[in-house]
Amino acid sequence: METAYIVMAALVVVIGALLFTIFRLQKGGFNQLSLRMAKRDRERLEILKPCPICSAMLKRGETLRSLYYRQKKSDHKLQVEEILTHIFGCPHCWPSNQEYQRSCPVCNQKVSHDGYLVARTFRRPEKKDHVHVIGCTECKTVR
Ligand SMILES: [Zn+2]
Ligand SMILES: [Zn+2]
Repeated sequence: METAYIVMAALVVVIGALLFTIFRLQKGGFNQLSLRMAKRDRERLEILKPCPICSAMLKRGETLRSLYYRQKKSDHKLQVEEILTHIFGCPHCWPSNQEYQRSCPVCNQKVSHDGYLVARTFRRPEKKDHVHVIGCTECKTVR
């Protein structure tokens, strides 16, 4: 009789461990799924990123015309590179045309046909650039 109880107890422990493993696996699977969904969301956002000058929604492949002024010194401890950037526009508003209004997101003034936005690009290895617009050729010169 006693051995039967021991076998039962052992079975309960084994089943418990199995259930725990299954639960953990499901949780892991769920995490992976949400990660995948987040990635898809990011991709969708990437497709619908507006141009900072004319606000036209940019699809994948429609990139901003910008110039990067990289500095030689880079902070290896911080692992982030700050790059002075001039943004001229997207395929819709550069070269400038009548259809797309070019305006500065900082001062709301019109950006002239040869004007550009001044921005700081924060670049980290294996991460997407973070672009911070400081102003345009109109509002950046008056300081
Ligand atoms: Zn644009
Ligand atoms: Zn401006």
